Amino acid sequence: MNQEIPYKIYLEESEMPKQWYNVRADMKNKPAPLLNPATLKPMTPEELGQVFCAELVKQELDNDTAYIDIPEEIRSFYKMYRPSPLVRAYCLEEKLQTPAKIYYKFEGNNTSGSHKLNSAIAQAYYAKKQGLKGVTTETGAGQWGTALSMACAYLGLDCQVYMVKCSYEQKPFRREVMRTYGAAVTPSPSDTTQIGRKILEEFPGTSGSLGCAISEAVERATSLEGYRYVLGSVLNQVLLHQTVIGLETKTALDKYGIVPDMIIGCAGGGSNLGGLISPFMGEKLRGERDYQIIAVEPASCPSFTRGRFAYDFCDTGKVTPLQKMYTLGNGFIPSASHAGGLRYHGMSGILSQLYHDGLMEARSVGQTEVFAAAQEFARVEGILPAPESAHAIKVALDEAKKCKETGEEKTIVFGLTGTGYFDMVAYQRFNDGQMEDYIPTDAELEAGFATMPEIEA
Ligand SMILES: *Cc1c(COP(=O)(O)O)cnc(C)c1O
Repeated sequence: MNQEIPYKIYLEESEMPKQWYNVRADMKNKPAPLLNPATLKPMTPEELGQVFCAELVKQELDNDTAYIDIPEEIRSFYKMYRPSPLVRAYCLEEKLQTPAKIYYKFEGNNTSGSHKLNSAIAQAYYAKKQGLKGVTTETGAGQWGTALSMACAYLGLDCQVYMVKCSYEQKPFRREVMRTYGAAVTPSPSDTTQIGRKILEEFPGTSGSLGCAISEAVERATSLEGYRYVLGSVLNQVLLHQTVIGLETKTALDKYGIVPDMIIGCAGGGSNLGGLISPFMGEKLRGERDYQIIAVEPASCPSFTRGRFAYDFCDTGKVTPLQKMYTLGNGFIPSASHAGGLRYHGMSGILSQLYHDGLMEARSVGQTEVFAAAQEFARVEGILPAPESAHAIKVALDEAKKCKETGEEKTIVFGLTGTGYFDMVAYQRFNDGQMEDYIPTDAELEAGFATMPEIEA
């Protein structure tokens, strides 16, 4: 097809997905079941239903239904900020003088500044439909808490967010966005839960961690009548909701007959990457087409590239079920990286299985080179990327530069998950030449692995 490709490929409302795509249906090797840590038996729907909404439990456990209807109410909410543009990075290509064709799917065009809203609205919707009063969650960097606050405000649900204490203090603007949407934001650890009080007693000056905030949010949800706990990444249900990203991308590419050679995305818990690649991975799994798929993670928290594929807890407080995944160990504490959304010890069970089966690759990159790529991108494409998203940019730039050397006209698609306007302290560090890279030693990784439960897989 020789049609001129526009800078931004938008879809009509009528072309937006009406169903999410569940890639597990096409996987020969399904992700391993979540286990109850007490019995080591697969978690039952009843057990999961004490913590999560009933409909979300169904989605979590569904390995067989390929397409799941997106309820009308969620589709109309999506229309408020979707479809998101698929941008042809003509300006970047020109700057790089590369024969590669570069596209990015931009998810930063909503108030949460990230793709997180795609799942937040779905999770809040099912909570509301179940007649619940509210939901609890944790937030680290703040994007997830912001997205959930907005979704809850829209539906009239109470929203209680445990925000890692150091972020609560260092990111007052994120906190105020959440409060503007009506969420109650508590710095974690706090005295509002037993586990929080226990941690405060043991470590009086602690600045908190994501693992600890998860434990508090779960305790809070299970001790309040009419509340459930929600999570912004890692789980199968979250990855399912995020497939709107990939489905829109595929429809937009198909409109112009474009077939990507490689698809690149950053991976924290794996939800945006999983959502972006799902429809493409489906084709790959069914033997219809082949794509090179690359997950990019920080060298400071290298779950895929240096982790182990084993059962582990999803949180540091060991209150969650066990999931088989690439993990650095629930007790692994990554160094203070500026890409807060990628500082997670584990990984989506779906992506872990796909990676284990050789269906995708992973690369780890240092944060200084990531910020250099962010700057290079911002100066020609205008968008100031989130540090998390800039991991994908870094590898997309590397690949485009390789094409310049080899003369290959590869088509590269990457996920630009969000904007970085709340991350200006990190940019300041970089601009001042004060950013440092930290790569954990083998001994530090061993210490993390030692915190994992010993389970025969
Ligand atoms: C949370 C977040 C990520 C990482 O989460 P995934 O579940 O791996 O997608 C990436 N980018 C942004 C902007 C985020 O907010």
